[in-house]
Amino acid sequence: MITKPKGTYDVLPPESLKWEKLETTVRKVCKLYNYKEIRTPIFESSEVFHRDVNDTSDMVTKETYDFKDRSERGITLRPEGTAGVARAYVENKLYVDNSVTKLFYMGPMFRYERPQKGRNRQFNQFGVEALGSDNPLLDAEVISLGASLIRALGLKDVSVKINTLGDEESRNKYREVLVSHFTKYKDCLCEDCLNRLEKNPLRILDCKVDHDKDFFKTAPKINEYLNDASKERFNTVLEALDNQGLKYVIDDNLVRGLDYYSDTVFELVVNIPEFGAQNVIGGGGRYNKLISQLGGPETPGVGMAFGVERLIMAADYAGKNLQPKEQIHAYFIALGKKAEMACLKAINVCRIGGLSCEMDYKEGSLKSQFKKADSNNALFTLILGDNELNEGKINIKDNTTDSQETINIEEVYNYILTKVTAQNPCGSCNK
Ligand code: AMP
Repeated sequence: MITKPKGTYDVLPPESLKWEKLETTVRKVCKLYNYKEIRTPIFESSEVFHRDVNDTSDMVTKETYDFKDRSERGITLRPEGTAGVARAYVENKLYVDNSVTKLFYMGPMFRYERPQKGRNRQFNQFGVEALGSDNPLLDAEVISLGASLIRALGLKDVSVKINTLGDEESRNKYREVLVSHFTKYKDCLCEDCLNRLEKNPLRILDCKVDHDKDFFKTAPKINEYLNDASKERFNTVLEALDNQGLKYVIDDNLVRGLDYYSDTVFELVVNIPEFGAQNVIGGGGRYNKLISQLGGPETPGVGMAFGVERLIMAADYAGKNLQPKEQIHAYFIALGKKAEMACLKAINVCRIGGLSCEMDYKEGSLKSQFKKADSNNALFTLILGDNELNEGKINIKDNTTDSQETINIEEVYNYILTKVTAQNPCGSCNK
């Protein structure tokens, strides 16, 4: 038997209904905030992700799926959504009208990580990017969108952690003091942090290995090194969150796993003991250099990404059932070949009119077909035998009331439509 690759999984029905529900909810929330969908390739030229030789993030240095295609082009399966969106923004010159471009995406990402609960090698993200303005209110809008999604999904115990990395001037000052602090403890640093010390010392604060050591706790804090503009900017973000009644916790160790962030960074963390280290369901921040790094004009941006699997797991945990009961309008039981053809015709009329129908292609016994009508949660079961067929009639059973009658086979569509519209005037059918 050929099995799925390590770190991947199949989403089977009815679990796939949860995904559909989540995707619908994402789309609804994005509409409220006026974010439009963008779909970019799952693979990109490697330079899109391997832009900066000084990048120290695990995702870029250790986890990408890189390969050469048959024409020896360097290709990378996207490990995240932002860089591809930024590439598309530049390539399609979405900046020309000088307005704020608000985009969202959903789809699979690939990282060669150690698989465990809530961490896969192929996983899905939903993300938003707002490009073209440095306004701190936009940072707050992105966080507010995330909070709205959490609310719409009915998740519990989610907190927003926020921090600022300051502007370039503040970060440069902070970098210097961090380097001199951590240099004193060089011998105690893990191998990754030694590398970060040279290339991106801020990322040391993100280290999961050295995190609990004393020299880590005594490290200088960014807020002591922010210039006035950075402080004011961060205060405006916080004021905008307060203004919307959004709760947050300032976490001055938060720097996020990617190297391109500046100013605001944030994470949404769910308090579920079983999640362990995988309790971050989403996060993001401001990135003002990425567009120019990819060859576009200097364009500020802010974005956020959620792990779809973790959102679904968190909804399960909160007892929020994202899996709606699936129903069909009509299950047709045909007794004999001629009846099958006649049913097929009626089914086609119904489906064209927006009613969902099923029949038994395995030609099981009458009893097993009734069972299948049941397991499909059919609102109506229609039975066509020789007698009815000869008279152009069909027997129809309303499974809600258990009442039965015989109607003209041509009338099936109108009959069901009238009944379902009366039972559910706001429309369970597509009419
Ligand atoms: P990141 O792009 O690393 O900031 O991740 C954003 C979100 O994607 C995280 O908060 C997780 O919810 C999710 N995520 C990241 N990596 C994985 C993974 N390997 N498996 C499942 N979800 C992931």
